[in-house]
Amino acid sequence: MTKQAKDLNALFYETLKDIYFAEKQILRALPKMAKAAQTDDLRHAFEEHRDQTQGHVDRLDQIFEMIDKPARGKTCDAILGIIEEGKEVIEDFSDTEALDPGLLAAAQSVEHYEISRYGTLKTWAAELGLKDAVPLLEATLQEEKKTDELLSRIATRSVNRHAA
Ligand code: FE
Ligand code: FE
Repeated sequence: MTKQAKDLNALFYETLKDIYFAEKQILRALPKMAKAAQTDDLRHAFEEHRDQTQGHVDRLDQIFEMIDKPARGKTCDAILGIIEEGKEVIEDFSDTEALDPGLLAAAQSVEHYEISRYGTLKTWAAELGLKDAVPLLEATLQEEKKTDELLSRIATRSVNRHAA
């Protein structure tokens, strides 16, 4: 293996650990967000994505196995900060009309973080010749994108409802 491939391999593994940690944090945060949501459609979106997120963790477990490395998380300060902001919204805006918009905004920043990570990992996996990892990363990437779009639709609907 060239030095360059070795470095990219190491970076791939580090980034895999980063998103593994992030997904596990998200798994814990989504039920709290579902519980806080004021409307049924937002609550259902969070509940459904919680189940998808378990699938994301499972796919990552498979990829760790493919590269013959232990499945381990590495503290990701970015996701901790994003989730912390979501908690603040719940604390500061519970019982107000701004709670759901705040939860939507927090959830979308989580999705955007994941979309960025999975896009990068997919590109690197292809570059490293990890052919079996690419479709797994692509499947999760598509679910994150669809969730982001669903959250956008819910946000638009609620804005329209309030304008009416
Ligand atoms: Fe995810
Ligand atoms: Fe997600």
